[in-house]
Amino acid sequence: MIQRAASPSFLGLDDRTAVVTGGGSGIGRAIALAFAAAGAQVAVLDRNREGALDTAAAIEQAGGRALALACDVSDAASVSAAAEASLDTLGPCDILVNNAGIIRPGALETLPAADWNAALAVNLGGCFLCSQTFAHQMRPKGRGALVHIASISAENATAGAGAYSVAKAGIVMLSQQLAVEWGAQGIRSNVVSPGMTLTPLTQARYEMPGRTERMSQAIPAGRIGRPQDIAEAVLFLASDRSAYINGQQLVVDGGFTRMLMSLLPRGDY
Ligand code: NAP
Repeated sequence: MIQRAASPSFLGLDDRTAVVTGGGSGIGRAIALAFAAAGAQVAVLDRNREGALDTAAAIEQAGGRALALACDVSDAASVSAAAEASLDTLGPCDILVNNAGIIRPGALETLPAADWNAALAVNLGGCFLCSQTFAHQMRPKGRGALVHIASISAENATAGAGAYSVAKAGIVMLSQQLAVEWGAQGIRSNVVSPGMTLTPLTQARYEMPGRTERMSQAIPAGRIGRPQDIAEAVLFLASDRSAYINGQQLVVDGGFTRMLMSLLPRGDY
């Protein structure tokens, strides 16, 4: 006989506190809203205070609990202050989603060192700083989940993207190292790598007439990704449903990166 689960919630996130960096826009906002819809309380961190406030207000209006915090993930003092404020108001962090990210595009031939350093400091350094800081709140419970947002660019060199792909590749290895160093402490570390996803960061890319349609044709799913697509994967990896998954990367790209063989004009089959 099939036993019905005691909890009506599949993910079991009701009593959890989630911290989402870059939660004031795009994918981070969708992740924050999805956690709240699953019953978690959410600390929304963003260097864009207005964006963080907007997300927190949307959560509260829907009956959830949220805290908006201005925070620059590349600044250790800013991350520490946000961690203290989050602890004081929402209690210890159970789940950290390292989502904040930037693009500083440019060809490597001429890329200013400042752009190289900024992309690494936010995209990769921010993941390290936030993981180190918020894990202090996880250890006393012997339990925690880290989910880092990398990109399909982590494994596919992206010409003209400056240090973006390098930073995203670094996130994948950082996550694996965290998994092996902290796994015995009950802290899991996994990566979600989005494909092409429509957000304020990438919107301009899709505004040229016909571009969205042409790009969609290259994706088996037949469409550009939505922030909610990414949020679904993050919630799974943050929940106890993935309790035995550690040090892995989940690519959420509608199948786009499996299209290599289909690019050849072979003509036979
Ligand atoms: P987005 O709409 O620009 O949202 C990112 C948020 O992070 C923004 O509110 C941004 O603030 C904030 N942020 C930037 N630097 C920060 C810092 N130092 N400290 C705290 N917050 C900071 O971008 P998105 O498309 O949702 O991207 C979210 C993540 O997904 C990024 O890591 C990105 O690399 C990754 N990703 C996106 C795509 C895609 O196609 N959209 C694909 C693969 C991976 P500002 O507005 O002030 O910059």
